[in-house]
Amino acid sequence: MQRLIGAHTSTTGGLQNALYEGKQLGCTAVQLFTASPRQWKAPPITREQVEKLNQARRETGIETVVSHAAYLINLASPDPETRRKSYEAYRAELQRCAALGIRYAVFHMGSHPDFDTGMRLLIENLRNLLAELPDGVCITMETMAGQGSTLCYRFEHFAQIYDALPDERLVICADSCHLFAAGYDLRTPDTYEAVWREFDRLIGLSRLQVWHLNDSKKPLGSRIDRHEHIGEGELGESAFRLILNDPRFAALPMIIETPDETRYAEDLAKLWSYVGQLPPAS
Ligand SMILES: [Zn+2]
Ligand SMILES: [Zn+2]
Repeated sequence: MQRLIGAHTSTTGGLQNALYEGKQLGCTAVQLFTASPRQWKAPPITREQVEKLNQARRETGIETVVSHAAYLINLASPDPETRRKSYEAYRAELQRCAALGIRYAVFHMGSHPDFDTGMRLLIENLRNLLAELPDGVCITMETMAGQGSTLCYRFEHFAQIYDALPDERLVICADSCHLFAAGYDLRTPDTYEAVWREFDRLIGLSRLQVWHLNDSKKPLGSRIDRHEHIGEGELGESAFRLILNDPRFAALPMIIETPDETRYAEDLAKLWSYVGQLPPAS
């Protein structure tokens, strides 16, 4: 089985270019923005965009494409207007993903100054989104670092969502940097195993379906989200070796979002080396 290792690549000049760039860098999966990540509104996907993306899939062999939704989205916002715009923007993202054959639409869990109120608003919006969710797409919740009043940086927070919404179309993207910043230590075999026992007990391992692989500039439990290149931060190489060689995660797309795109190929080559492979030839 081919490993799905990739990067968040650029869609400048068309969505398909993310795949061609990914191929050059040594990716077997990519993450992309289906629209500008800093705007609320985006035009719907055209037939031409779908055809070009599918042609790129055939030409590169990169079938697995993950989307990352706009950073503006806050489904738990205390401001009703922002909440409404967030709902519409993420619903549109899910529709674009359905049109493009993209299964995972990763989004940030949002923030609210009052945690319990924020969780209630988030769950209410997720319930409504599930009712309108197109076939073949999963609402993909990213584990957060816990900066400021961010929601969903502890496994208990996701357990609360699943208690209210036990739906298999609601899945999780684990970000290694965010997990570590939130206090989950992935560096040694013992602490690593304890983290996944906890995840399985509170959430269920089958719900983890996407990885973001980033090292962390900040220490364990700092609750600060600063990505670092693979093996060069506080997590270090050991954590990535454990993740890459964990058979429970071997089929999942693993995407880097490291700070300097000109070093993507280097980071990807490290990940491939941890599984004893060379990056696929471009
Ligand atoms: Zn993200
Ligand atoms: Zn981050």
